[in-house]
This record gives sequence, C-alpha cells and structure tokens, in this order.
Amino acid sequence: MLHPDQKPLRLASVKGMNDILPEQAALWAHFEDAAQTTLRAYGYQRIRTPIVEHTSLFARSIGAATDIVEKEMYCFTDALNGEQLSLRPENTAAIVRAAIEHHLLYDGPKRLWYSGPMFRHERPQRGRYRQFHQLGVEALGFAGPDVDAEIILAGQRLWDCLQLQGLRLELNTLGQLDERAAHRAALADYLKRHIELLDEDAKRRLETNPLRILDTKNPALQDIMRGAPRLMDFLGEASRAHFEALRRILQANGISFTLNPRLVRGLDYYNLTVFEWVTDRLGAQGSVAGGGRYDRLIEQLGGKPAPACGWALGVERILELLKENDPGARPEPHCDAYVLHQGEAARTQAFAVSERLRAAGLSVVQHCSGDGAPVRFKTQMKHADASGAQYAVIIGEDEVNSGTVTIKALRRAADALEGNAAQRRIAVECLSRDLFEKGG
Ligand code: ATP
Ligand code: MG
Repeated sequence: MLHPDQKPLRLASVKGMNDILPEQAALWAHFEDAAQTTLRAYGYQRIRTPIVEHTSLFARSIGAATDIVEKEMYCFTDALNGEQLSLRPENTAAIVRAAIEHHLLYDGPKRLWYSGPMFRHERPQRGRYRQFHQLGVEALGFAGPDVDAEIILAGQRLWDCLQLQGLRLELNTLGQLDERAAHRAALADYLKRHIELLDEDAKRRLETNPLRILDTKNPALQDIMRGAPRLMDFLGEASRAHFEALRRILQANGISFTLNPRLVRGLDYYNLTVFEWVTDRLGAQGSVAGGGRYDRLIEQLGGKPAPACGWALGVERILELLKENDPGARPEPHCDAYVLHQGEAARTQAFAVSERLRAAGLSVVQHCSGDGAPVRFKTQMKHADASGAQYAVIIGEDEVNSGTVTIKALRRAADALEGNAAQRRIAVECLSRDLFEKGG
C-alpha cells in the first residue's frame, strides 16, 4: 500500500529502448526459428556472451576513432570496484574474446552464431534504436574465400526462408593493412587538396581515419568522393585473387551482387572482403545486415593469430520488412482449451483435467479468480471466448458428481479443423472417454 503522501511513480521506458509486446512474439519466434534452422543447416553452433564487457575490448577492436566508440557506446564505471565497463554495441569483439578465453580454436576452426540485444546511443528513429537486436555468424579460423562465400550463402538462404525479396548484396574488398596504408596516404593527399570542400566531420577524420570519409552520408561530399583514389588500384596479387575467387563462387551459386568500392563499414577491424545487404524499403535505414573478414582481430586481442569472418543482421529491420510483406501475418496462436469451474471440488478437478490436457500436448488456460470468490459461468464464458480457445471445458457441480466434463466447441467446425486439429480432437476425445468411463 502506498503511504497517503506518496504519489504513484509512473515511468516510461528509456528513450530508444523498446518493449517487445506479446502481440509481436509470434513474428519474433518465426524469425528466430528460421534463423536457427538455416544456421544449423550450415553447421553453425550458438554461443551466448554477456551483455557487458570491459570498455577496452571495444575500443581496441572496433577502433577508437569510429562513430561507435567515439559517441555511441554506453560506458560506465562499476560503482563497486571502479572497472570501466560498456554495454556491448556489437558482438564480434566479444565472440573473439570468448574464443580466446576458452581456447575454442584449440581443436580447429569454429562456426558460431549468436543473437541478442546491442546498445548504441544514436538518435532514435524508424529502424534505429538505442537497444536493438542483432543476429550474427562468426566463422573463426578459416582463411577463405570459400568461407566468405559460405556465410553469404547462409544469409541468402535465410532471406529465402523468410521469403524476403529485394535485398541487394553490395560487395567490396579492403585489401590488407599495407595496401590500405598506401591507399590511405594517397587518399589523405587527395582530400587535403580539396580541403575547402570538406565538412567539419570530414576535416576531423582527415587526421584520424580518412577512409571513413569515403563512407560519408553527406550528399554534398559525394562528388569529390567519386574522384578519390580507389583502393582497388592499390591491391596486391593475393588480395585480388581472394576477391576474384569469392566472386566466382557467388556467381556459380546464383548470388547476385553489386560492387561498391565506397563500402568500408564502420569498424576498423575489417580486411579483404566486406559486404552489406541493403534495401530501399526502410527509408534512411537501408542497411539490414553487414559483415566481412577480420583476419587480424584474434591476434590483436591476444589470441594465436587466426583468420576469421562474419556478418550481423539487424533483427528489427528484418522484422519491419516481414511486416511490410504481410501486415496481418502471424497473429499470436490461441490456446486450445479454456477450463471453467465453480466451487472448491470443481477447481480440484479442473487442475487435474488441465494438467492431463497439457500432458496430451494441448495449450490450456484455466480460469483463475482473483480472491477465490465464485465467478459466474457466464462471466467465465466471456473470458473463454476472448481467449480464442477452440473448446470450453466446463466443470460444475454435476460434472464433479459424475466425474465428467462438458466440452463445448467455441469456434466454427471449420476453424476447429485448422492447425493441429487432429491432435486436439484426439486429446479431447481421449479425455472425455477417460472421464466418462471413470464416471461410469
Ligand atoms: P547504419 O549504417 O544503419 O548505422 P551500421 O553500419 O552501424 O548501420 P552494423 O554495425 O554493420 O550497422 O550492424 C549490423 C546491422 O545492425 C545493421 O545492418 C542494422 O541492420 C543493424 N543496426 C545497426 N545499428 C542499429 C540501430 N541503432 N538500431 C537498429 N538496428 C541497427
Ligand atoms: Mg551505425
């Protein structure tokens, strides 16, 4: 009870962090099932890592001069021991940390997948939240390019499984560190010659990370960017061969893609292959998934050097596309039976009946009354109707005395035959026979 002076405290959720309500549960489950089935088909195993990691893990891997680390991370000091911690803004660094910590690569390469919430302090808008969900794959210990192709094929199979059309695959190669360094020098040189045309952000990045300027979202800069030196012209033989082999495998498997030399991605750890799946159907938030190769990250985080690649997709953006495809799809499934009862003895029998039905595989909602006071059958029937159940199972004084239940079909016969109708009918028949026999 509140003290008479106390006002009830009414808080909304934190801005950009959403409740996912029961009415959305079926769509999420549909997506998760499809992802799980698809990734199992490629032999990927699920890994779960904590939501909180040491801040230095992200600063070291994602890169100190990236948007994520510069301004999007939720960092805090643990008040009890002073540790610098962060809510994870992405999961690749954490997977690599876990792989090193638990020697996962000791007995060979690993194919892993994960799914869960990520946190970035961005301006909330459609498709962009502060808590959002990513599902991703990480193939650790493979030098590719066949594994680059494999993770892209897995992504495509997931889109197919979800019947998502019109996702465009954009592909690029970033080459190796030394090739990038040579390109970076030429690029910085070029940009300095056009410094009066750059915006503030670009000027700042000129010193820290000129490659990121290529990724600018400022339309005014696109023209100068088009004339900038191309990394492709700085690539050595091995890098070219890797990229060509990947393209050949994709083409042979009917995966279409466009080459986008300006695709650099927002994290520092990538090399060679990078890619993104994009759509025009989500307004400004067109990127639904992205990934690439990060051959140096494992070593950089203290592990035995091993190549790796992966991708991550934004679950909310995928679900948005699914909803657009079919707005009325995937309502929450209704329960099979609603059990009504009145009186102490009937309640005892109701529990036994409900448990039997559940054991037989049905979804059963048993009426619960607040304070134990008897609730009229008419009122209970309203709840039964609203529950969407196929059957009402009624237990009153007569049923208690005869050890039976009364079963009433709540939906039209045609409805009752949908879905697991056979299973339901058998369970209900089973139950009634059992009870009738017992009751003599
Ligand atoms: P964007 O260019 O839209 O900011 P990003 O390059 O930062 O995306 P990644 O770090 O590659 O995104 O993350 C992979 C996927 O996660 C994105 O393609 C997107 O679908 C999703 N994603 C990223 N940030 C958000 C966010 N703030 N809210 C919802 N989804 C997001
Ligand atoms: Mg971003």
